[in-house]
Amino acid sequence: MVRKSLETGKTTPTIHSVESHNFENLNLCYQCGTCSGGCPVTRLVPEFNIRRIVKHAKDDKIDVNDRFLWYCSTCFICYERCPQGVKPIDVIHQITNSLSRDGFAPASLKEGNKKILEVGRSSELTKFSEQKRKNLNLPELKTDVSKHFREIATLTGLTEMVK
Ligand code: SF4
Ligand code: SF4
Repeated sequence: MVRKSLETGKTTPTIHSVESHNFENLNLCYQCGTCSGGCPVTRLVPEFNIRRIVKHAKDDKIDVNDRFLWYCSTCFICYERCPQGVKPIDVIHQITNSLSRDGFAPASLKEGNKKILEVGRSSELTKFSEQKRKNLNLPELKTDVSKHFREIATLTGLTEMVK
């Protein structure tokens, strides 16, 4: 089975193969649930379950249509608490990075990344927040990102990913 991206027209298998990834200690996961038990996103969105994602990676059954793959907030709690050194955050990020490279990142994420490349933040600076900063005597925010940031984005492939 394949899935076709509406944006890029590219196709990819519905099941994402994890063969190319370099997961550390994945086979040591004994499904204790410490990662999902401490995950702040799961508390709000029970459908996002890092323990289950690790299990699916282990079984090589990552469903690319699972929109919850993109819900990780990168807080590193699972990384710190896993008793087996599995680094669950690394598992999910390797998968989402790979899907991004193939053009399958959600449109909202791509837009956010494009905005970061343009102005250095993921959303427009509103008049409301400008005024709020003034009221708090905070300096004006720059509206451009540094040349170095763009260079890093090009070197890491981010510029290409958001096209
Ligand atoms: S990844 Fe670690 S914390 Fe999560 S279920 Fe597996 S062993 Fe437990
Ligand atoms: S890094 Fe992601 S998966 Fe891990 S606990 Fe934080 S939000 Fe959950």
